[in-house]
Amino acid sequence: MIDGTLNLSSTAAAGSGVTEQSGICPVCLDGCTGLCEIAKSSYRGREVIYPKPLGKVTAGSVKKYPVDYSHLNIQGTCVGAAGVRSDPDKASFPAVSTETAIGNKYKVRLSLPVLTGALGSADIAKDNWEGLAIGAAISGIIVVLGENVAGMDPGAVYKRGKVVHSPELERRVNLFKHWHDSTGEIILQQNVQDTRLASAEYAIEKLGVRCIELKWGQAVKDIGTEGKPGVPEPAGDVKKKGHIVINKAFEEQEITEFERSSRLGTVSHEEFVRSVEHYRNAGAKFVSLKTGAYRITDLARAIRFASDAEIDLLTIGGAGMGPWRMMNEWGIPTIYIQSIAYKFASQLKAKGMHVPDLVIAGEFSLEDHIFKALALGAPHFRALCMGRALMIPAFIGKNLQGWISEGRVPDDIRKFGEIPERIFITMETLKDRFGKDFRKLPLAAVAMYTFCDRLKAGLQQLMAGTRKFALKHLDRNDLVSLTKEATEVTGIPYVMEADMEEAQRILLC
Ligand code: SF4
Repeated sequence: MIDGTLNLSSTAAAGSGVTEQSGICPVCLDGCTGLCEIAKSSYRGREVIYPKPLGKVTAGSVKKYPVDYSHLNIQGTCVGAAGVRSDPDKASFPAVSTETAIGNKYKVRLSLPVLTGALGSADIAKDNWEGLAIGAAISGIIVVLGENVAGMDPGAVYKRGKVVHSPELERRVNLFKHWHDSTGEIILQQNVQDTRLASAEYAIEKLGVRCIELKWGQAVKDIGTEGKPGVPEPAGDVKKKGHIVINKAFEEQEITEFERSSRLGTVSHEEFVRSVEHYRNAGAKFVSLKTGAYRITDLARAIRFASDAEIDLLTIGGAGMGPWRMMNEWGIPTIYIQSIAYKFASQLKAKGMHVPDLVIAGEFSLEDHIFKALALGAPHFRALCMGRALMIPAFIGKNLQGWISEGRVPDDIRKFGEIPERIFITMETLKDRFGKDFRKLPLAAVAMYTFCDRLKAGLQQLMAGTRKFALKHLDRNDLVSLTKEATEVTGIPYVMEADMEEAQRILLC
């Protein structure tokens, strides 16, 4: 028996006591009060399609795919040093640089090749924005300001259908800008509603935003975002902002968790190139595209259109919130789509065409994922989107702030201490860096910084182990496949065959 709010997956069942494909208990009892998804759907119907509580959770697929990044291993070596003199006094792991720069003509410098997921109008993004934006600013990574923020802002002011003031958008941008230093950036996404409301034009002109992202969809779904208005809004007002009110029961307030959906975009080459040109003319220095895990013809479209429009960055995939069944059963899984994108980008490069910097998204969480995804996609993939993983430090830091002030630090954490200076190992570094402003840092931002610092140290260790001292030196030769199927998907040599010729030469010549 499983809780339907936690999902009934066709493949999640191994070990959970339910039948794998159906998720139904092997013995289904007439008389069970019904905790499974099917039982709950019998009375809450379509409301059960989504992870709940909507706007308070992040959610990801639980499906086990035939090949994933754990089927690649990182190759170490005890010979040489790329990017630093091969001298034991120089080639130590702290000497590894994790910095990079992405973009075409306008370069965004990063301390770590990482982007947040898109944090848009959902409550969870709004509630955690302060920690995420400040954390990204002080960690030197990119924070992506997601779609519909102006459209969902109850304080927004419109003139002739265009937004001319949005306190929420302004708050979000200013939090990042106040703490931003030389590395990191904020990117503002635009979906169909945002385009209609001209929120990018407003953000560029009034808020000083430099980077705009067009959006074709998210990995887990190609149906756009959905959610509920932050404060009760008449269905008519939601419609006026361009959303679709899905269910009459919502209009009559009988259901509360399936309220509105964004419009579906339709992509054309001409329209895309024109949009990129439009935002450049409006003052955007950097234009990117986010596409989902659509079929490979759409991936080919994304890469070709991005090349023709000479955009700065293309993000592929994602792990964002979606209907349970779409998260598990829809789209091309991450390692597969990255491998195909690598092939397509290499084909365009060979023809002398522009290939934008590529970013891959899809349930990445730790430093080995950074290493593997950058090496697998080298030289085209320059960074990773870590959507759900980066939300966790924001949650932890925010909640710790409350627990500390209420004197109820959980036991697992109290063993380190009951004050921030004892709990967070980066406090002294941040104190030295920010002086008296240090006290203004929310603990959620400190937690983000601490997590990013861990990612950096872990990545430095892995890179030092392959004797690569800068990200530009990572390549596909740094990986081996652990199965033949992984080789077939990725093109990375099988572990029992990789380097074998050279090994034989060393051994026998
Ligand atoms: S209704 Fe049947 S399948 Fe669902 S939880 Fe109860 S016993 Fe299991």
